[in-house]
Amino acid sequence: MKAMVLKKFNQPLELTDMDTPQIKEDEILLKVRGCGICQTDLKIIGGKIPREFVRLPAIPGHEIVGEVVEAGEAVSGISQGDLGVVYICVFCHECEMCLAGRQNLCLNLKRIGFDLYGGLAEYIRIPAHTFCPFKRNLSLDFPVHDLAITADAIGTPYHAITRFADVKAGQNILIVGAGGLGIHAIQIAKLYGTKVFVVDMDLNALNLAKEFGADVAFEPAEALEAIQELTNGLGVDAVLEIVGLPETLSWSLPSLKRGGKLILVGYAPGRPFPLDAMAMHFHEWQIIGSRFVTKSELKQIIKLIEDGKIKPVVAKTFPLEQANEALEALRSKTTLGRIVMTF
Ligand SMILES: [Zn+2]
Ligand SMILES: [Zn+2]
Repeated sequence: MKAMVLKKFNQPLELTDMDTPQIKEDEILLKVRGCGICQTDLKIIGGKIPREFVRLPAIPGHEIVGEVVEAGEAVSGISQGDLGVVYICVFCHECEMCLAGRQNLCLNLKRIGFDLYGGLAEYIRIPAHTFCPFKRNLSLDFPVHDLAITADAIGTPYHAITRFADVKAGQNILIVGAGGLGIHAIQIAKLYGTKVFVVDMDLNALNLAKEFGADVAFEPAEALEAIQELTNGLGVDAVLEIVGLPETLSWSLPSLKRGGKLILVGYAPGRPFPLDAMAMHFHEWQIIGSRFVTKSELKQIIKLIEDGKIKPVVAKTFPLEQANEALEALRSKTTLGRIVMTF
């Protein structure tokens, strides 16, 4: 099979001919139908993710939709031809976090597309417990490869909004960043009847945000003032920080209402943000880290997609062989929103 392999950090991926993986009894073999790429892949390739989490050679790609080609003898309920997405976390089922339903925080976590081979390959071998199928008679009004982004670009904001921001009808949320995650965060927040403010530097991203339901969209320079005006000086109930840079946190945190919550989804390795403890104290602001998604949440998202309540938004596709060009488009921000590799 063909795979795009990371052999050295900071080097282009190499198109490599490899043996099609052999599955064990509790695994399945998927024919990859689509694989999304994101900023995390740039961090992986650039060697910016701690090295104990990425072993070389690596096959990146953690947003995968695929079709079952073969299931191991011990696998039940999954058949050839089933279509599904891959839950990135290979979890142990036994640790304190797994037992609490927080598989994204498993103490023995391994991740597909990080320390395990990912989806930038024609086939992938995965433990059966990471396969999350769509219903068998699924009919879509968009290409199958768009489903690839379910696990991360939809899953990550879903976890952050439903578990932590916990916004309700009549409340408001500020979403910082209208890219691949942001555009789905808007759709999810709207399902809760929340008023959605979106900030992005890119005017086209802001237009797209409005198309997908953002009530107000503005550029960073006007954010703080506009929010004060639109909320009668109170601030927003929640901030979803998808960027996570000190530059955005400097105005997104003070946009909060008293008692408000800032959910940190994005992060910038090695760029800490100084915290004003006095302001935190006076306003009783909460800052909460949010990492990826739990498996049960991913299953809920699958239902929402099946019912047409959330639509995966893919900006551009590239064939697998052009993964380096796709990564460059992501790096140079010439493409807005999610990019998916097709097969
Ligand atoms: Zn990602
Ligand atoms: Zn565990």
